[in-house]
Amino acid sequence: MARKIVFLGPPGAGKGTQAVRLAQELSVPHIATGDLLRSEVQSETELGMKAQGYMDRGELVPDELVVAMIRERLQKASGFVLDGFPRNLNQAQRLSSVTEVERAVHLSLSREEIVRRLSARRLCPQCGHVYNLQASPPQKNEICDLCNTKLVQRNDDRPEVIGHRVDIYTREIKPVLEFYQKQSVLREVAALGSVDSVYRAVKAAVN
Ligand code: ADP
Ligand code: AMP
Repeated sequence: MARKIVFLGPPGAGKGTQAVRLAQELSVPHIATGDLLRSEVQSETELGMKAQGYMDRGELVPDELVVAMIRERLQKASGFVLDGFPRNLNQAQRLSSVTEVERAVHLSLSREEIVRRLSARRLCPQCGHVYNLQASPPQKNEICDLCNTKLVQRNDDRPEVIGHRVDIYTREIKPVLEFYQKQSVLREVAALGSVDSVYRAVKAAVN
């Protein structure tokens, strides 16, 4: 089974949900650039302060900042599940100069379902667990099952930002898909259906 895996797909497709599970099963690190950047913002680091405006507007953080953030982690890793990177052709090319990619799994989902999932997404600010108020709600109203913390909605999951994020994704991802297609590592997975059924398709794609 492949151990150097990237997840591609629109915001809300379920990359994080699937990547956490796959990384656990493969015993490799789950590296999510969005999570890393949110943690930099929360800690008010120099990188976090540079990134915050872009993130709140639903735009991409400049490539050099994001590449610098993950380069070292990837150089050392004998396997990884990368989630949220690369997001444009330049990032894909930069990634290929750092490490090989054995599988690029592209999760696809309709715009209508993306908006539905993201509007109902809630995040635990303490442990990072992701919920969905419709599909996978916590047991107590908006409280994390794992650490009892009040859940929050991401700033960029507001309806006015979601559309902008999807537009940027649609514009930037085409050459990335072509890039991995040419290397014969691209696999398409329909992201509609239960988390378990999508996971079965993901497993088949990385085998
Ligand atoms: P991404 O990392 O691609 O932005 P997430 O994994 O955060 O997406 O998923 C987006 C939202 O959709 C979350 O609220 C998550 O709980 C929910 N979700 C993930 N997979 C499914 C699924 N197969 N069916 C319904 N909801 C899902
Ligand atoms: P995500 O959690 O993957 O939805 O990412 C949240 C936000 O972080 C994005 O909307 C971007 O502003 C920023 N971000 C995450 N990954 C990248 C990346 N690879 N390149 C540029 N910006 C990114």
